[in-house]
Amino acid sequence: MTITTAEIEARAMRHAIALSAWGRGTTSPNPPVGCVVLDSDGRSVGQGWHRRKGEPHAEAHALAQAGRAAAGGTAVVTLEPCCHHGHTPPCHRALIEAGIARVVIAVLDPTSRGRGGAALLHEAGIGVAVGFLAEEAHLVLGPWLAALERQRPVLTWGCSLTPRGTLTSDATALPREIDTLVHDDTTATTATEWPTSRPLFTLPNDPHHALDALHHDGTRTAGLAVDHVTAQPYLDTGLIDHIEAHSAHEAAHLPNLPDGYRLAQISHLNNGLRLSLSRNSTNAQTPSPSSQR
Ligand SMILES: [Zn+2]
Repeated sequence: MTITTAEIEARAMRHAIALSAWGRGTTSPNPPVGCVVLDSDGRSVGQGWHRRKGEPHAEAHALAQAGRAAAGGTAVVTLEPCCHHGHTPPCHRALIEAGIARVVIAVLDPTSRGRGGAALLHEAGIGVAVGFLAEEAHLVLGPWLAALERQRPVLTWGCSLTPRGTLTSDATALPREIDTLVHDDTTATTATEWPTSRPLFTLPNDPHHALDALHHDGTRTAGLAVDHVTAQPYLDTGLIDHIEAHSAHEAAHLPNLPDGYRLAQISHLNNGLRLSLSRNSTNAQTPSPSSQR
């Protein structure tokens, strides 16, 4: 049984999405992007992902690995190739110069303002497909897109439910892929559990000021490791998008958590449960690819 082009491209896109996830936590303010280059026979000849701002984009890594095998081939990329000169040359130009015949894109870049890389590739006579496995690509790009839309970092509060019904700071409940850990004086001990390669940010009093400062510094996803008292102004102003609550006791459960959040996932963590909650009222869904243009 022969495999179809669509199946080959779906495999390549899922590989590109998985590659892009390696960049989570280090690429901001840039998005985490992955790219796979297929040769003209559909063989994977180049793979790449963006590591950090100022370093080559995913497409550049994948094209470098593919070399001449890229000519007549297909580039499968999780986000629309860029069209602007930043720290690196624009990727749409690199794809054209490499002789790529077709580009498959999961998500269009909302920052490209209409005349993006996809349009320029199309004008250059390259076949372009957009919105391919976009929902799966949102697993990695979703928080970056949401931060772009809100003009502030996506904020996750990491806490522990105690049997007494209080919520204490718990950095270990936070996902590893966030950019910046936000803490205050009460969380000096939990902060030491954080990977030392990641920035720490000490909390100012005003929540909006705190998130503005973080956004300005390039943070797109932030974890809040503070107790309930410090988190309250963030909860009151609707700035906490997600809660990751560690519960080691059967007696400590959901009634202790703030209203306005729904259960998104329950997983096991440190001999207990991690209750993942998402805010109800925010428009957390990022625009679908069809509505972006
Ligand atoms: Zn680029």
